Amino acid sequence: MANLGITTVGEAKEIRGMNLIAAHSHIRGLGVDTETLEPRGASQGLVGQARARKAAAVILQMVKEGKIAGRAVLMAGPPSTGKTAIAMAMAQSLGPDVPFTMLAASEIYSVELSKTEALTQAFRQSIGVRIKEETEVIEGEVVEIQIDRSVTGGQKQGKLTLKTQDMETMYDLGTKMIEGLSKEKVMAGDIISIDKSSGKITKLGRSFTKSRDYDAMGPDTKFIQCPEGEIQTRKEVVHTVSLHEIDVINSRTQGFLALFSGDTGEIRSEVRDQINTKVGEWKEEGKAEIVPGVLFIDEVHMLDIECFSYINRALESDLAPIVIMASNRGNSTIRGTNYKSPHGLPLDFLDRVLIMPTLPYGPEEIREILSIRAQEEEVTLSPDALALLTKIAQETSLRYGSHLITTASLIAARRKAPMIDVPDVQRSYQLFFDQNRSVKFLQEYERRFIG
Ligand code: ATP
Repeated sequence: MANLGITTVGEAKEIRGMNLIAAHSHIRGLGVDTETLEPRGASQGLVGQARARKAAAVILQMVKEGKIAGRAVLMAGPPSTGKTAIAMAMAQSLGPDVPFTMLAASEIYSVELSKTEALTQAFRQSIGVRIKEETEVIEGEVVEIQIDRSVTGGQKQGKLTLKTQDMETMYDLGTKMIEGLSKEKVMAGDIISIDKSSGKITKLGRSFTKSRDYDAMGPDTKFIQCPEGEIQTRKEVVHTVSLHEIDVINSRTQGFLALFSGDTGEIRSEVRDQINTKVGEWKEEGKAEIVPGVLFIDEVHMLDIECFSYINRALESDLAPIVIMASNRGNSTIRGTNYKSPHGLPLDFLDRVLIMPTLPYGPEEIREILSIRAQEEEVTLSPDALALLTKIAQETSLRYGSHLITTASLIAARRKAPMIDVPDVQRSYQLFFDQNRSVKFLQEYERRFIG
């Protein structure tokens, strides 16, 4: 049932990768030493915040060893201290089939879904099921690809000749396979494998025998022996889908197309119960493995008391991801109650949470982060402009400083300057307010208006 050619966890992560909020596009990983887990100064886009990065690396290690499912971690620190950046870095360091789901707490308040349904979906999106299946695989060296150009009406046809050391066979090609071959830029001499059930084409390397022109193939080309034996074999393939994806496919009212629109609606609890039982059976039979992933909940103080008790319960279940939360609040009211508590989290919940603090940055770190952001946006800052931006970011926030790079670069481009200079930064500072100035402006305006 999972073999419907739907988005796998890996692909879903790629899609999310493309949509990653541009503000964090410079983050490539936690930048820690793989052995000692010590942060390597500025590395993989991350600067400073050493303790939190090390703590995040330790947590990742535990996720990879499958030791931390059902735990909750809270990143607590002032605004713009890299909580989301570190979560993004963790997401990138997880294996390609470990799910990572990101949720801003306020997203769960919608008219279409109840709060607990939205949370359940987020939880189940964060649990992968690695399913092993047998499939027919064709593997060999491409001898020839013939595409029939005379066919019209959108359907494509052709023939593919593959060989191994022992035999040569010709296969019929349909539209999907032709598109796959051209997407992968497959040519004669490539050694490929085709998964017959999904039609997925993988380039395994180049044949030794056709490799006279090493340079033309590019430095990354892998040269391998032409395979021996049969072209068509049965192989075990593994793909990972999330529990939520399995829910949606099997929910009769929705159908798997809902996965693409994101409009999944409420899923009945009987469907989920059946799926839990089925996945449990697959696990017993050795056909599937559970891959607990990460659920990141930003602005967690926006959740209310009912959500916290839901999460508390959900973490007890056998099928629980690791939950990482972020809050920039100190003591605040728990939504839905009149009580105040640290970070707006109920005390019994807080009790089971590991807390990772993030600290404000010094001027050197701010300068370095802004400089990385400028590189990421492919703009050049004059040393004076960078110094001014650093000062502004220190007095307002790193996020505001980083936004000014974008606006100042537009201003510099209008005057056809090769780099951003001090006047461009000054002009953006005048045009766009930071939070404090904006509040002050409104207060003054109100006073004048009312008075
Ligand atoms: P808030 O509490 O307001 O949500 P936050 O702690 O989640 O803030 P981020 O959004 O992660 O802060 O940081 C603000 C900006 O600075 C982002 O563009 C982020 O990528 C960048 N940034 C923060 N810390 C670092 C760091 N240590 N290294 C590199 N970039 C960073």
